[in-house]
Amino acid sequence: MSNTSHDLIVIGGGSGGLACAQRAAQYGARALIVESQRLGGTCVNVGCVPKKVMWNAAQIAHAAHDAGHYGFDLEVAGHDWSRLKAGRDAYVLRLNGIYERNLQNRQVELVRGHATLTGPRTVRVGDRQYAAEHVVIATGGMPTLPAIPGAEHGITSDGFFDLPERPRRIGIVGSGYVAVELGGVFAALGTETTIVLRQDRVLRHFDHMLSDGLMKIMRDDGVAFAQQAVPRALRREADDTLRLECEDGRVLGPFDTVMWAIGREPNVAGLSLEAAGVRTDSQGFVMVDHLQATNVPQVYAIGDVTGQAALTPVAIAAGRRLADRVFGGMAGRHLDYTNIPTVIFSHPPIGTVGLSEAEARALHGEAVKVYTSGFVPMYHALTTRKPRAEMKLVCVGPEERIVGCHVLGAGADEMLQGFAVAVKMGALKRDFDDTVAIHPTSAEEFVTMR
Ligand code: FAD
Ligand code: NDP
Repeated sequence: MSNTSHDLIVIGGGSGGLACAQRAAQYGARALIVESQRLGGTCVNVGCVPKKVMWNAAQIAHAAHDAGHYGFDLEVAGHDWSRLKAGRDAYVLRLNGIYERNLQNRQVELVRGHATLTGPRTVRVGDRQYAAEHVVIATGGMPTLPAIPGAEHGITSDGFFDLPERPRRIGIVGSGYVAVELGGVFAALGTETTIVLRQDRVLRHFDHMLSDGLMKIMRDDGVAFAQQAVPRALRREADDTLRLECEDGRVLGPFDTVMWAIGREPNVAGLSLEAAGVRTDSQGFVMVDHLQATNVPQVYAIGDVTGQAALTPVAIAAGRRLADRVFGGMAGRHLDYTNIPTVIFSHPPIGTVGLSEAEARALHGEAVKVYTSGFVPMYHALTTRKPRAEMKLVCVGPEERIVGCHVLGAGADEMLQGFAVAVKMGALKRDFDDTVAIHPTSAEEFVTMR
């Protein structure tokens, strides 16, 4: 066993860990990062990046369907899932290499292996022991499996990226980002798709305008929803198909594949947080204050392992700000977790920032004023598919400060970033009214609402 000493050890080479270590190294810190799997973490390997490739494929399927209405004499003979997968996997592999070279260029030492804490600021990887002034826990999360018989017959989003071919019939259990995003991909590419909800709607924690609108569009696109369906067991039948038993006695299926999309849990197995005395909450997430500090001095946590806004740019922003504060002399610098914009890559996508109407009314009561707009985007004037776009501004007080901005519809994914800047800056409704519209777009509705 040999000992080395560093300024910073980051455990986990995903979005947050890489960002933190590299920013620290730019300030001259001797930084070491430990990664047990592929560099880039969830986002690059089994999250945002390969998911967006699949979303693009689904967009093309929709466009191919619409092409005839725009005069194209187009016949799509089929879709080769394995060719798409090969291209996607090759792209991810290239990114893994780029991430490794980035570390070398910035003089961050990379140690491959599983890290275990042996004390407050000491880490063991294999038979080597490392010590540092500061330790950052950035080990991310992993998909949750339900504690029911037969759960092992289902896959998770990780397994989705391993599928060698497209299943003919899929049951997706869950109601959040993963269920609607991957459900949309399967449906667009031709899989018979059932989304199994234990309540009545998808995306229950977002503004209900978004979930109502999306569920209608997904139904029109052929997705079935099983509502009030709480899974009790998953059975593999003699013919290799799967059936999902629900608590009310319903049996759903047959399915070729069942995917659990019921949330994520912290990736802390084998980390020995207790050896360092790091406190976790009841679900195992590492508890941090607004400076990302744990209860142990100079031990921090960032990203999904903290259970706060599990999004890549959040992990990156928290990691960079932490390095700015600890190594860059920027006292007090930290991430403000309010007004974090997010996009759900459904078909069509959803963009949302700030409070839902219900959240605003609970906080501000009568002071809330809401503006909405619903329409069929011009693109669909010529198509038989008529998915409606829905937009909402949630305003508060006599000055009508915009506290929520929500959009479902084509282009929402690229539309929201700029509006998020405005909301973060405290824009008022009259600032939107004073902005000249860009025509013809869907986005212009945000500055023309009455
Ligand atoms: P991770 O990226 O998970 O990195 C943690 C790393 O730590 C991993 O590489 C892991 O191998 C390593 N590790 C864990 N334990 C140890 C150990 N003991 N020793 C050494 N290494 C260890 N977010 C978005 O913003 N946009 C999206 O479109 C989006 N799409 C997503 C799609 C899917 C299907 C999923 C599952 C997630 C998606 N996310 C998206 C969320 C995003 O991927 C995460 O929020 C982000 O990756 C979190 O970064 P992190 O650094 O906290 O953890
Ligand atoms: P989510 O937390 O988004 O949604 C999971 C939902 O599944 C819950 O809200 C709950 O909804 C339902 N659920 C929970 N437990 C059960 C159960 N036992 N049986 C049936 N349903 C259950 O989780 P995801 O896995 O979809 O995504 C995890 C996180 O990853 C997201 O929250 C997001 O932060 C991130 N992500 C981000 C993406 C993006 O930025 N585009 C894309 C994908 C993931 P209810 O209570 O209504 O039943």
